[in-house]
Amino acid sequence: MDRIAICGAGPAGLAMALMLTRSGHQVDLIERFDEPAPVGSGLILQPTGLSVLDMLGLYDRMMALGHRIDRLWGTDIRTGRAVLDVRYDSGPHGRFGLAVQRAALFATLHDAVVQAGIPILSGRSVVSVRDAATRPVLKLADGSEMGPYRLVIDATGARSQLMTQLCSHERSRELAYGAFWATLDAAAMDYAHGALEQRYDKASVMIGVLPVGRLTPEGRDKIAFFWSQKIGEADGVMTRGLGEWKARIAGYWPQSAAMLDKLTGWEQLTLARYQHRTLQTPAVGRVVFIGDAAHCTSPQLGQGANMALLDAAALALSLSRTRDIDDAVAGYCRARRHHVRLFQLLSRMFTPFYQGDSAALAFIRDQVVSTLAKIPPAPRLLASIVSGTLLDPFSSSGVSERRWIDR
Ligand SMILES: Cc1cc2nc3c(=O)[nH]c(=O)nc-3n(C[C@H](O)[C@H](O)[C@H](O)COP(=O)(O)OP(=O)(O)OC[C@H]3O[C@@H](n4cnc5c(N)ncnc54)[C@H](O)[C@@H]3O)c2cc1C
Repeated sequence: MDRIAICGAGPAGLAMALMLTRSGHQVDLIERFDEPAPVGSGLILQPTGLSVLDMLGLYDRMMALGHRIDRLWGTDIRTGRAVLDVRYDSGPHGRFGLAVQRAALFATLHDAVVQAGIPILSGRSVVSVRDAATRPVLKLADGSEMGPYRLVIDATGARSQLMTQLCSHERSRELAYGAFWATLDAAAMDYAHGALEQRYDKASVMIGVLPVGRLTPEGRDKIAFFWSQKIGEADGVMTRGLGEWKARIAGYWPQSAAMLDKLTGWEQLTLARYQHRTLQTPAVGRVVFIGDAAHCTSPQLGQGANMALLDAAALALSLSRTRDIDDAVAGYCRARRHHVRLFQLLSRMFTPFYQGDSAALAFIRDQVVSTLAKIPPAPRLLASIVSGTLLDPFSSSGVSERRWIDR
């Protein structure tokens, strides 16, 4: 009964397991896949997420694998005008982002979990929970049960079944646009080092290239290539064939031809779908939600994995402060409330300017926002938005921001 269940071995669940084990808790880390594995291509670790990884002693390893990002840079295909230009160093402290392969982040956390002697109970898909208010017991897809537990932490991501069961009143919105993603060898490619580079035509076309570093220190550098895709039209695009799709992209961005040449089959591309949801209270009784299970959105602001790591830190801190589990859960909800809400709101506001059908929003972005964004204090403000630091995320999560002396 003293054990804590952590459902899901993604960034949130793995970090949570490490933190709780280090502070003396007994955990069951439960994962649906037989072989835990990451899904998708690349992501940017922000100063927030990097500081949590630093706290876990994993910063140096991550730095050895990732690609440092100093600038987010996007231009309009037709005019060549810069419509997104955010530099991390417009803010204080010498902050930067670190783009990583999802698999590199996963392997770093996973290896630390294995080293800490935490078994991953794989091949177990959690479908529901009973007695959530008192002694939660988990029900698995094969009909078996696990528990009762002192606390259940749901880190099963945006499509969490426990969230669906316990928070049926909460609204989730499927976003009309997702993206095709591919990870490609960076050798001989022409791409901007140190930057996320994007090209737009209105808000309905977005093409991007993110250098994401390597999987092992000796490994080959990769880039993530992505194309914003309206989900309802994806089947039609695939039916018409890869050749037509590639020709369309090359028409927009001829310099991407070398990258497109590397794509020879749809199996190299993953279609990512996005949802937007923010739980009013990320806990029901003794079931607490962290990461995408608690709040998910489009990756436009690049905060999801970072917020997941902050959630884990905040919950670990709250559990270390009191033995009363209900107080600890309430403390976690309070600690993350404002930061999560602010960034979910910003993501909801910004996303339609970059992925959507509104020509008017794209016009405002191109004509007004790009000009305003250059006038102080906007550059600094934008830098703190992408850094995830617009509202202090650190103190309430018990995380000290790293001293950024790596320049
Ligand atoms: C294309 C794309 C690009 C992104 N770019 C960025 C970025 O630049 N920066 C950023 O910070 N974030 C980015 N994100 C968001 C980020 O990936 C997520 O916010 C992050 O992965 C959330 O971590 P998590 O651990 O909460 O959930 P997940 O990563 O979804 O992990 C959930 C885990 O739970 C397991 N699981 C699921 N269901 C069950 C079940 N029923 N039983 C047991 N186990 C289960 C899964 O197999 C998985 O291992 C991006 C997302 C996408 C899709």
